[in-house]
Amino acid sequence: MARGRRARLAIRRSSRRTFLLLILGLLLSTAAFLLHRFELWRREPPPQAGELTIVVLDVGQGDSFLILTPERKAVLIDAGPPEAADRVREALARYGVMQLDLVIATHPHADHIGGMVAVLETVPVRMFLDSGQPYPTRTYTRMLEKIREKGIRFVVAEAGQEFHIGTDVRLAILAPFPTRFQGTRSDENANSIVARLSYGAFSMLFTGDSERETEDRLIEQENAAEPLQARVLKVAHHGSRHSTTRAFLERVRPEVALISCGADNEYGHPAQETLDRLRRWVRELHRTDLEGEIVIRSDGRRYEIHPERTVAAEDLWRGRRPRLRAEGYSAVSEDQSRPVRAALDPIGSPTGQRSKAASPARAISPARWRTGL
Ligand SMILES: [Zn+2]
Ligand SMILES: [Zn+2]
Repeated sequence: MARGRRARLAIRRSSRRTFLLLILGLLLSTAAFLLHRFELWRREPPPQAGELTIVVLDVGQGDSFLILTPERKAVLIDAGPPEAADRVREALARYGVMQLDLVIATHPHADHIGGMVAVLETVPVRMFLDSGQPYPTRTYTRMLEKIREKGIRFVVAEAGQEFHIGTDVRLAILAPFPTRFQGTRSDENANSIVARLSYGAFSMLFTGDSERETEDRLIEQENAAEPLQARVLKVAHHGSRHSTTRAFLERVRPEVALISCGADNEYGHPAQETLDRLRRWVRELHRTDLEGEIVIRSDGRRYEIHPERTVAAEDLWRGRRPRLRAEGYSAVSEDQSRPVRAALDPIGSPTGQRSKAASPARAISPARWRTGL
């Protein structure tokens, strides 16, 4: 009798164990699913004290960089294409950015300012730095209207300006130059804001969509006080073959190159010839199209780079081919930032007459200029 009860108890216990194991298995697989679904395992931990963090956002075909200083000041350089607006906002939330001390629009192309209105609606912005080029698209006009509406201090960039972001982080503006380029492949690209970020021994060069002409003038104007040399180079124009010249690389002498571009871009970014030029200089290449979001951390002496995904080196060094070539590939069609939509959608009266291009208002443009943020 007692033996029978013991046996029954043992069976009940073992079935309870099976049940618990089943529940545990279910919980574990749900957790694994959630981690995978929301990519939580990929996320970088929040920045440490004393560290400068640069987040190279994976915005597809476009640019967006978030800079977080050791004093928790925040700077955003570009806001990606319109479809990446949520990604940029999500990154601001993830990094706990409650206010942007400075926002930079390197130039008015949609793959750089597409998400800007969304950003300006999400967090307060203390100062906005623009390349100051009149540009007749809705995207640019709406951005200017939003800046005005929010009463954000608007500054037109010019080589020689300096932004001290807190105590030790400095952002020097190297371009655009007082005389703007005219008649280049893309004047908007050629007049991009170029900025050099420095923190102790760490430095990084942000080049927007610079053209060869921009690089040539940067070389001409380089001075000892503001060298072009940078440990990390944000490669110009998504790795286009038209910039990142050998002469420019000789001055920058980068250790690491970063390319922000889309996995399915039709412009052939990055170009194999650009990658070949870079390969002679850099020891590491990182690309958002293959590695996703890339985080750089520096304590002012050393720096570390953490890509979201690991990719084999041979894949990183393989360029893309433009898909437009078959349909009459040209320099103009490569300028992805002038979307067809914008061309069909000029600002103006319903009669189709174009009003004068949107131009920034209340601009301050001192030649030599220093500001603390
Ligand atoms: Zn671009
Ligand atoms: Zn551009």
